[in-house]
Amino acid sequence: MDKSFPRPAGPAGDIPGKKSPGQTVSGWSSLAIHGRHRPDPLYAHQVPIYASSTYVYDDAEQGMRRFSGQEEGFIYSRWGNPTIREAEEKIAALETFGLGIEVTGILHASGMAAISTLMLTNLKPGDKILTHFSLYGGTNELVSQVLPGMQIHPVIADLRDLNKAEEALKMNTGIKMMYIETPANPTIQCVDIDQLCKLAKQYHLIVACDNTFATPFLQQPFRYGVDFVVHSTTKFLNGHGTAIGGILLGKDLPFMKTSATKVHRLLGGNSNPFDAFLLIQGIKTLEVRMERHCSNAMEVARFLEGHKAVAKVNYTGLPSHPDHATAMKQMRHPGAMLSFELKGGLQAGIDCMNKLKMCVRTVSLGTCDTLLSHPASMTHYAVPKEEKERYGITDGLIRMNVGIENLQDIIADLDQALG
Ligand code: PLP
Repeated sequence: MDKSFPRPAGPAGDIPGKKSPGQTVSGWSSLAIHGRHRPDPLYAHQVPIYASSTYVYDDAEQGMRRFSGQEEGFIYSRWGNPTIREAEEKIAALETFGLGIEVTGILHASGMAAISTLMLTNLKPGDKILTHFSLYGGTNELVSQVLPGMQIHPVIADLRDLNKAEEALKMNTGIKMMYIETPANPTIQCVDIDQLCKLAKQYHLIVACDNTFATPFLQQPFRYGVDFVVHSTTKFLNGHGTAIGGILLGKDLPFMKTSATKVHRLLGGNSNPFDAFLLIQGIKTLEVRMERHCSNAMEVARFLEGHKAVAKVNYTGLPSHPDHATAMKQMRHPGAMLSFELKGGLQAGIDCMNKLKMCVRTVSLGTCDTLLSHPASMTHYAVPKEEKERYGITDGLIRMNVGIENLQDIIADLDQALG
């Protein structure tokens, strides 16, 4: 164990006789609201934004004990910060709610920073990483363009098909990690976490899962034996589109406290107390937001399915979606994300976007407001047509983050925009 990288505990947690109410609650939202909140020494109700780059010592000996790891306490905010710590511990508690296991989390400046720490901590030159072909674009580029420069190569397969996953494992030596994202961005494809974990364990692989689209309220990948979970906290966890962030969570606590902490600290992709504060506030309403996101999404999907301008609706809550059974097996509700294809192609997509009155034209997801993006004229404008089609991104495809506004207003706006 690398003793030079201890993870200090938060100071307020040591107040005698005061325990976080989150240690005793039994409900999910209660844990999201109270969990891992440390009573503040100055009696602030909410966690303060500890905007301090360094922490002081009573004397030189205390500094020595902190640096050597003999005494717990914060040292430097790239290494750890009380506000950041509360966010890390809250998300770790939610990802393991009811599972009886402990995981630890490291908050990062972005989802991509968390994913980079995951990859660079676990993979070395000569290793391979097995992934599903549909992944968030940034992760896909990291795996297919950046890691190969370090002699770490991707093996890409359709992981919705277990036979194809096993075939890829048999045909490729040196696969060290299986990396999955379910539901995937932007296709909303789902892979079976339980089945893939069982397969991966036969081949002694590390399994990592991006749980951004689902959040720990809808899906708990640790339940099925994954080793790591990552999130872009920018999305539903923050919930209001106010900060970029990411978290890496792992169940091998010594590994997280040494190797992963070391890479995180030295790459410098740390979060900051203000963003962590916003994240903590967002998490408190996650359950109620997700319930509303999902019920609105189901109704919007049904409305779109019956609309004459729409050729196809992709929503895992609809029995017509090929991954409906997988989603329902491992998710509490099918989520807030859907996409639909317009019969009129590119121009119909542009017209629909231009006519929106309440729903917002933008990329990203996870906010209270309904967001629509048109990949063909926005994110995927420069991507060659054949490549787009391989991922199911047609000219008339619109991606939608169904928000938590009143359902009738979302549907009325869509109806008028679809003409
Ligand atoms: N993972 C998923 C599923 C995403 O959708 C995104 C961003 O959209 C990321 C990771 C990267 O997160 P960030 O933008 O916070 O770096």
